Amino acid sequence: MPTSSLTPVASAVPCPVVESLDAILPEEPLLMMGAGPVPIPAAVAKANTIVINHLGGTMVKVIGQVKTMARYVFQTNSKWVLGVAGPGSAAMEMAISNLAWEGTRVLSIKNGFFSERMAEMGRRVGARVSMLDVDDGAVASLEQVAEAIRRERPEIVTVVQGETSNTVWNYHLKDIAALAKAAGALVIVDAVCTLSTMPLEMDAWGIDAVITGGQKGLSSIPGVSLIAFSDAAWARVKGRTAPNAHWCLDASLAENFWHNAGYHYTAPVSGVLALHEALRLVCAETLEKRFARHLKCSLALQEGIAALGLNLYAPPACRLNSVVGIEVPQGLSPGDICGHISRQHQVEISGSFGLPIVRIGQMGEQCREHNLFRTLHALGRTMVDLGTAVDLPAGVAALEKSLSSGARVLAR
Ligand SMILES: *Cc1c(COP(=O)(O)O)cnc(C)c1O
Repeated sequence: MPTSSLTPVASAVPCPVVESLDAILPEEPLLMMGAGPVPIPAAVAKANTIVINHLGGTMVKVIGQVKTMARYVFQTNSKWVLGVAGPGSAAMEMAISNLAWEGTRVLSIKNGFFSERMAEMGRRVGARVSMLDVDDGAVASLEQVAEAIRRERPEIVTVVQGETSNTVWNYHLKDIAALAKAAGALVIVDAVCTLSTMPLEMDAWGIDAVITGGQKGLSSIPGVSLIAFSDAAWARVKGRTAPNAHWCLDASLAENFWHNAGYHYTAPVSGVLALHEALRLVCAETLEKRFARHLKCSLALQEGIAALGLNLYAPPACRLNSVVGIEVPQGLSPGDICGHISRQHQVEISGSFGLPIVRIGQMGEQCREHNLFRTLHALGRTMVDLGTAVDLPAGVAALEKSLSSGARVLAR
C-alpha cells in the first residue's frame, strides 16, 4: 500500500503563526462614535451569529419581512425593494449601473466625497455625467439645480441627502426631486447616512431609487445594504437592451432571490438576519420617535460641543444632524484627536478625507444619552490633554440642559 500520500510534506508556503483576535482586540471594546460603523443592538449581534439555508422556507419568510419593514423605512409602497451583499457603495453602484449605461445623461449634484463617488460610478458605466459642483459647506440652490437640469437635460439626477464627509444636509431634497421629475428625469438618492435618522419619503417626494447601507442609521452590521426602486425605475431596468456589466449587482438577477425565492448568489444570510433585527427595532420604535430621538440627541451634542468652545463645521442652515463635524483647533490634526480619544478614552471618532475636521456620528445606537456624555467628556478631555483650552464642565452642563429640556419638548 502506498504510504507517500500520508507522509507529511513541508508546504511551499509555510503555515503562518498569527495572533488570536483576543490578543488583537482591545480588552474593552471601543465605543464606535465615528461616521460608521456604529454600535449594534444585542438582537442584531445575536442574529449575526446564525447561519441558515439561504434558499429555505425560513429565509423566504425573513426576506418577506425585510422587504415589508424596508418599505416602511423607505416610505414606499413600491414592490421593488432588494438587498445587496456589499457596502453602501455596492447599493449606490446597483442603482446607477442598472439605470444608466453607455451615453445616459446623468446630472450628479456634488456636495462632497460621497456624492462625487456616485458621479464616478456613472462615468464607469459609460454614462455622460455632468456635475453640479457645490461649494463646501453649502447646498445647491433650487435655481442652480433648475438651471443645470435645463442645460444638461438629464435622464437621471443623483443627489445625496446627507453628505457625510463635510456634514452638509441637502434640505432641498424634496424640491430637487420635484424639479427632476418635472423634467422627466429619474432621481437617485443616496440616503446611506440618513435613512431612519431623519424624514425621507420616497413615494411622496417622487424619488425613483433610494440607497442605504447597514452600518449607519439602521445600526446593523456593515456589508449588507438595501435599495428601493420606483415602478418607473424598475421599468427602465427591465427595458434596457444591454445587460448590466456588473453581474452581482444586476437588479434583474437579484429579483430571483429577493422576489422569486430563487438563486442569484449565496446571500449573506447572517447579515440579512442582522438587518431583519435592525429593521424590526426601527419598526418597534416607529420612525416618528426615532427621528425625534436623533434630533434631540444631535442638537444636544452640538450644544455641548459649542459650550466646550469648539466650532461646528457646517453652517446651521444646512447642518447635518446625523454626523456632526467639528473644526480642529489650531496646531492639532484630526489624526491627533482621533488617535488620542481612542487610546485614552476608548471612544472612536472619525477624521474626514483631508478636511480639517473630526466627526462624531449620531446614527442609530449612537444616539443614546449615556453615549453622548461619555463621548463629549472624552472629546473635552482629549482637547485638554492635547493642550487646547476647552470648558469641559460648561460642555457637559450644556449637554445635560439640552437633553432635559428636549425631553420636555417631546413630552408635550
Ligand atoms: C458611508 C456612506 C457611503 C458609503 O458607504 P460604504 O458602506 O462605506 O460603502 C455612501 N454615501 C454616504 C452618504 C455615506 O455616508
